[in-house]
Amino acid sequence: MLPRVRAAVAQLVGGLGAGGQPPAEPRGGDGGSPAGPFFCRPAFLQLTPEELRRADDQAGRAVQSPRDGRRLPWSTGYAEVINAGKSQHNEDQACCEVVFVERRPSPRGRLLSRDGGGELDGVRVRAACAGRMPSGRMQDGARGGGFYFHYWALFDGHAGSGAAVMASKRLHLHICEQLRDLVDILQDPAPPPICLLHDVRTSPVEPSRVPLAEDVGEVPNDAVPRFHLEKAVSHESLVIGAIENAFKHMDDQIERERASQHLSGGCCALAAVYLMGKFYVANAGDSRAIIIRNGEIIPMSREFTPETERQRLQFLAFLRPELLGKEFTHLEFPRRIQPKELGKKMLYRDQNMNGWAYKKIEEDDLKFPLIYGEGKKARVMATIGVTRGLGDHDLKVFSSNIHIKPFLSCFPEVRVYDLTQYEHCPDDVLVLGTDGLWDVTNDKEVARVVMEVLTSYEPNDPCRYTMVAQELVVRSRGVLKERGWRLANDKLGSGDDISVFVIPLGGPGNYT
Ligand code: MG
Repeated sequence: MLPRVRAAVAQLVGGLGAGGQPPAEPRGGDGGSPAGPFFCRPAFLQLTPEELRRADDQAGRAVQSPRDGRRLPWSTGYAEVINAGKSQHNEDQACCEVVFVERRPSPRGRLLSRDGGGELDGVRVRAACAGRMPSGRMQDGARGGGFYFHYWALFDGHAGSGAAVMASKRLHLHICEQLRDLVDILQDPAPPPICLLHDVRTSPVEPSRVPLAEDVGEVPNDAVPRFHLEKAVSHESLVIGAIENAFKHMDDQIERERASQHLSGGCCALAAVYLMGKFYVANAGDSRAIIIRNGEIIPMSREFTPETERQRLQFLAFLRPELLGKEFTHLEFPRRIQPKELGKKMLYRDQNMNGWAYKKIEEDDLKFPLIYGEGKKARVMATIGVTRGLGDHDLKVFSSNIHIKPFLSCFPEVRVYDLTQYEHCPDDVLVLGTDGLWDVTNDKEVARVVMEVLTSYEPNDPCRYTMVAQELVVRSRGVLKERGWRLANDKLGSGDDISVFVIPLGGPGNYT
């Protein structure tokens, strides 16, 4: 087992910190040239072929931003830079869209029109061109046949770019598809109905059986349970559920198409959806979102790593020990146990424990721990450093047939921020960043840079948020010196891909 695990450590998946050693090349899936099949940058950057080559230059690590700072909705700032050799190409991806959610045809109309419906086909799931939002954001462009939502997302790929590229082009369409069932419900101030008559996507009905409108709500008395309880469900939780389901559908699509589309690897996903006055920030992985409001920092995500999800992973392994392939133990120990220590007592933690206790060491405890390492070096089965995300369907422990996907979750944690509850000034922002940013900085330092840069530009200058994004990327990348990329304090700069959105939360009419 030990040689296998040692070999596995050399094939680590997931971002390494600034002090980490880059894994061996290639990471796979990118093709052999800068213009390889999976190398692309976000469409909103509008890079020419020459600029694309420059963006892929790991020696220069030039920072990329949209040419026109006003091009993105709300004058959002964006900047990115490629890694310092960690992988062949930039495995981060980004997307920014304004999406129109069109009401799904009614069952009767659906039958009459023979509309297949329900598939992600790019026809009824329409993404409006970024920056073409037709009305002020507080009105959300609500229309009779649907509504708009704003969308920003970062995808941090690993072991290839394929999953990140596909997710960057599809996740917002899956969110749109999930929201289509909610068009009428979300525009009605009344509480949502507990039960819809039927699901038009999955339960087609014959014309003769199409229910009449007056049938709605008619439940026979004897069908009501004796101890009938109704759980209050808010509009907000319906949107959260739609986003969660969209992540699952995205993961399923990657699984279905990974062979035909030659998709490799997986990706962390961080998405911000602005809908009807609220921000929904969904995170699956180790990217991070914070709001900076009047100098105060409001966390909008938490990272999902082997350390933060230890108990979930241990519990799954406890329930399904066959997933460990007789090579790993679900127990955690402070250090590796030597065979000569059999019979002695050692500190350990089980799935239900936050603290530590002693146990007598048995044969099984000599297996490699399911979770091993600390901080950025913590890994699941000595392989991957993140525990949520999309893709990774074929990921196995090195030189074994042990699948790791069962331990990874594609579901995000969604946090909600109600924009209507506060008066926001032009310096209030939502910052989204991949771990390449956060590896070498922290919330306070980011907030300090945000305030420092914004105060040096006029409040109505639409380029000020791009300037913030660029400054955050430059300060985390550092400058190239004899001993590599160095920060201002001479510590090692981030060698990872770095991508940052800076989204203004308030300001003078620059949101159209
Ligand atoms: Mg990264």
